[in-house]
This record gives sequence, structure tokens and C-alpha cells, in this order.
Amino acid sequence: RWEGEAEIDYVFKVVVVGDSAVGKTQLLARFTRDEFALDSKSTIGVEFQTRTLTLHRKRVKAQIWDTAGQERYRAVTSAYYRGALGAMVVYDVTRRATFEHVARWVEELRAHADGSTVVALIGNKADMPAARREVEADEAARLAEEQGLFFSEASALTGDNVERAFLTLLEEVFAVVS
Ligand code: GDP
Repeated sequence: RWEGEAEIDYVFKVVVVGDSAVGKTQLLARFTRDEFALDSKSTIGVEFQTRTLTLHRKRVKAQIWDTAGQERYRAVTSAYYRGALGAMVVYDVTRRATFEHVARWVEELRAHADGSTVVALIGNKADMPAARREVEADEAARLAEEQGLFFSEASALTGDNVERAFLTLLEEVFAVVS
């Protein structure tokens, strides 16, 4: 083994789903590399990014999967969901249609992923001016409650709540698997 390489206790696969252009790729870039890539589709074709962290003294490798644009063609395959312990369903707070499709994404997850997959609902682009907003946080919180999901608004652009949302999800996955 390479010097400095720590033992990994767990690998958690987490999938990110939601309509096109809600900010999935940017959320993933923010969490795994703490960056917001201006040429946003530079990661196309890359299946996942990883970040290794310590949770309860265990080394956890979070393997965060990006649809890499598959959702445009409604062709997110079951291989994408397979083995996912956690999932993020993302909508854009400035585009109501992306919120209206959340239920469909949750259904798709429930159909393909394992029954015990922990799911978070994320309202991204919370940095946008209030006048641009088409979905209020309390409405999304109600939907999340009905569906039994953890909910947070976030901004991949500013980084607000991104770390916390992923860490909360990974903590919940940890509680399920450990
Ligand atoms: P994806 O198709 O869901 O992966 O979406 P992308 O990550 O490619 O983002 C789509 C567009 O939204 C790009 O122009 C991003 O720069 C922009 N974007 C992503 N996240 C945010 C955010 O938190 N705030 C704002 N204002 N724009 C964002």
C-alpha cells in the first residue's frame, strides 16, 4: 500500500439525481473538491468523484455519482442506482418544474435503489435573488416530511449548506450500515 494511504473502513455510494441544470454537477464539485467549475460540463462522462473522511473514527470513502447528463434523455440506468446507500434529489429553487418532478425522481429511486437507501431533498441555488424564487423552503420541507426525506436548501455557488447536507446524509448512511 502507498505510504500515507489510510485503510478505508467503508465505501458509501451516493447518487445525485434531479432534472437537468439544477446544479448536480456543481454540488458534487463543491463537496468533493470545494470548487465551483465555471466550465460546468467539464466532468461529463466522469461517473463519480470521491472524498474520504472520518466518521465516528472510521475512514469512509464517499463515492458520489453524477448522472453526467443521462437525465436529459430519461436514460438514467438501473446500474446508476445499484448499490446506492444514499441519494440526493436536487431541484432548483428558481424553477418550479424541477420541484414538481421531485416525486418522480423519488419514485425512480425507490424502484431501482435498495429499500434502505437514505434520501435527501436539496433545493439548490438558494443564493439567487428572492424575486427569482419559485419554490419556498417551507413548501419543500412539507413535501420532504411527507416523503420521509431529509431536506435542506443549499448553494453550490456560495457553498452554503453543501458540506452540511452531504455530511448529514453520510451520517445517516453510517447509522444504517454500522
Ligand atoms: P446539472 O445539469 O444538474 O449537473 O447542473 P450543473 O451543475 O451543470 O449546473 C447548471 C447551471 O446552473 C450551470 O450554469 C451552473 O453554473 C448553475 N448553478 C449550479 N449551481 C448553482 C448555484 O448554487 N447557484 C447558482 N446561482 N447557479 C448554479
